[in-house]
Amino acid sequence: MDSFDLDIAIFGGGIAGLWTLARLRRAGYRVALFERRALGGVQSIASQGIIHGGTKYALTGRLTGSAMAIGEMPGIWRAALAGDGEVDLRTVRVLAPQQYLWSTGSLASGMAGFFAGKVMQSRMQALPAGGFPPPFDDPRFRGSVYRLDEPVLDARSLAEALATQYGEACGLVPASLAVERLPRGWRLVSPETGERRVAALVLAAGHGNAALLGQLGQDGPAMQTRPLHMIMVRGALPPLYAHCLGASANPRLTVTSYPMDDGRVVWYLGGQVAEEGVGRSPAAQIAAGRDELATLLPWMSFPDTEWATFAVDRAEVATGGGRRPDDAFVGETDGLFTCWPTKLAFAPRVARLVAGGLQRQGIGPQAGGVPDLGLARPPVARLPWDEVETWN
Ligand code: FAD
Repeated sequence: MDSFDLDIAIFGGGIAGLWTLARLRRAGYRVALFERRALGGVQSIASQGIIHGGTKYALTGRLTGSAMAIGEMPGIWRAALAGDGEVDLRTVRVLAPQQYLWSTGSLASGMAGFFAGKVMQSRMQALPAGGFPPPFDDPRFRGSVYRLDEPVLDARSLAEALATQYGEACGLVPASLAVERLPRGWRLVSPETGERRVAALVLAAGHGNAALLGQLGQDGPAMQTRPLHMIMVRGALPPLYAHCLGASANPRLTVTSYPMDDGRVVWYLGGQVAEEGVGRSPAAQIAAGRDELATLLPWMSFPDTEWATFAVDRAEVATGGGRRPDDAFVGETDGLFTCWPTKLAFAPRVARLVAGGLQRQGIGPQAGGVPDLGLARPPVARLPWDEVETWN
């Protein structure tokens, strides 16, 4: 039988890599995680932190087949947040236990029928007029509000929770690390780590997976990127966690909020405005954001607010036509797993698919500890608004 120094090496310390690390460590595997920059990732730390349960998929009429898996995700996260799940997330800050959907004016008739459907009724509750939360409790608001029982998490505290528990298994990837396939397993070599034999690799490097696959001589699975130009507004704002539905089923605007230590709140704006703003300059995107808020929340005003924007790509498995994949993706060949969760919410599913693949391939946990790889520990990633140099 081959002998390995490590059972698994994970590349990438975003949510996919960290959740998989936690799950496999708990299953007794000797796992190390190699990160290029910071724990918490690129997309994960930039995400809106929404633990989707599929409502957005249902809204687009695509809640079919494997996409149903998303429905299980909030339950898995809730168990982890309560400390009795497959990962311990008790220290993660839940920014909001629920979100809202609002529509201005009356819903398009197709959508009204849809809302009356059974699937949607089980996922969201229409609130009675008079029972709207702020800022929709204003008499000038005309429209409907629905409550979605899907929590919103603080992405930084999520990264911190996992870095605190599993940071000792994480190292900054050495610039000169060479990875070669062996007849069984892999050989990792660098001056820092020395030579290490590993049974399986997990690529959870988001955008970096394409380059890693190239370095390993693999010609797939193919990746697609879908860019976003997010908007941030900072000031004396009420916390708001809500999607605005427009004429199409994709949310026109998604607002999440982050309370700062100094009492101010950052509104983080995504949805169609972020997708359509990709070609805009930061100034033009800020102007578009101001227009959207004036149109969709016309009774509110935004004096003394500061604005900034942030561009980031979503990295996913390629789909025909570049549309969003409906499910998490884990590509599997001998001793190699390539992961794109598609959503933060899908991280547990990625870990489950990897664990199942390892079992299928007969790669089980070996006795012994994780060797000290002599690598520096990566820092925890900073939230996009903490990285802004100049607010406008
Ligand atoms: P990442 O978080 O990108 O992590 C990849 C990591 O790999 C990074 O740390 C990177 O430094 C590292 N890396 C890269 N190359 C290498 C290498 N060669 N070696 C080692 N490490 C490497 N999903 C939701 O469910 N809810 C949301 O509210 C939500 N909002 C979003 C908002 C935005 C703006 C974006 C961009 C995405 C959002 N998503 C959301 C999607 C979600 O964030 C992603 O699907 C998920 O975070 C991807 O996680 P990941 O671990 O695969 O990638």
